[in-house]
Amino acid sequence: MTATLDVPPAAARGRVAEAVLQAVPGSMWKARVEQVSLLSVVLGPLAAVAAAVPLAWGHFVHWRDLVIAVVLYAVTGHGITVGFHRYFTHGSFKARQWVRVTLAVLGSMAIEGPVKRWVADHRRHHAFSDGAGDPHSPHRYGAGFWPMTKGLFHAHVGWLFDAEQTNQKRFIPDLLEDKAIRVVDRLFAPLAAVSLGLPALLGYVFSGFTLAGTLQAFFWGGLVRVFLLHHVTWSVNSICHVFGSAPFRTRDRARNVWPLAVISMGESWHNLHHSDPTSARHGVLRGQLDTSARLIRWMEQLRLVHDVRWPSPQRIAARLVSAAPA
Ligand SMILES: [Zn+2]
Ligand SMILES: [Zn+2]
Repeated sequence: MTATLDVPPAAARGRVAEAVLQAVPGSMWKARVEQVSLLSVVLGPLAAVAAAVPLAWGHFVHWRDLVIAVVLYAVTGHGITVGFHRYFTHGSFKARQWVRVTLAVLGSMAIEGPVKRWVADHRRHHAFSDGAGDPHSPHRYGAGFWPMTKGLFHAHVGWLFDAEQTNQKRFIPDLLEDKAIRVVDRLFAPLAAVSLGLPALLGYVFSGFTLAGTLQAFFWGGLVRVFLLHHVTWSVNSICHVFGSAPFRTRDRARNVWPLAVISMGESWHNLHHSDPTSARHGVLRGQLDTSARLIRWMEQLRLVHDVRWPSPQRIAARLVSAAPA
């Protein structure tokens, strides 16, 4: 990991610098195919959840399904938060090669897009946060009820359908040079299939090889789990840039949203994150739960990762609004 994004260049903020977007996809036809497949990835799990309530009422759930769903949520979710976000995007720590590849694989299994694209979009988000050029700012349509409602929808899920994509040469030169990561990136579709197939397989085995057990585990551990993880990740882009508290100084509207702390695995301490993007810990204040930071700490103790950027008490204190000069 060589390139990290700490402080966005001041000159680049507030305007769309040249070459933020790249001329990919090569044709509108390809863009439309991507949009349709994306729509199925977004709507499939949504339909599953809409069906979940009546199905659960009809006892279409077994404790086994919930265990599979929670475990896969935690494993693939931390693949995003620890892997795609804190490691690949921000370089909060260094990792052994096999750990690096494992993080890329587990993050891909969250089905939020291939690693290169995810990281490029997120680095661009930090470079232009809440300004022109930010791929998903809820403030893009201005203040007021309807502009904000539209903005929240755009920041949550609408932006995914933008045909233009982030210029990877500009934002992820480090990943483009990495052969192993390029391979994992190309394997996104098979990894997504594994992510959905694994719960079905586990359900099949642990239900004593029954079709009902297979379908149930696929439903809860596959579709419902992916749905929840998607919307929690997207809530960090939408809700955490509008609602919540801002104890730390930032140049954007990032907020800390405590009700999402557990389910977002520490990512909803988003105000601190934008104040100090390379910090391995986002929940830095007393009582702020951050399971992603806990996991990084365990990996550090097991010597799987090193050079972790833990924030010192002085660094945290200096970023508090109350510490800012009047
Ligand atoms: Zn943000
Ligand atoms: Zn970030």
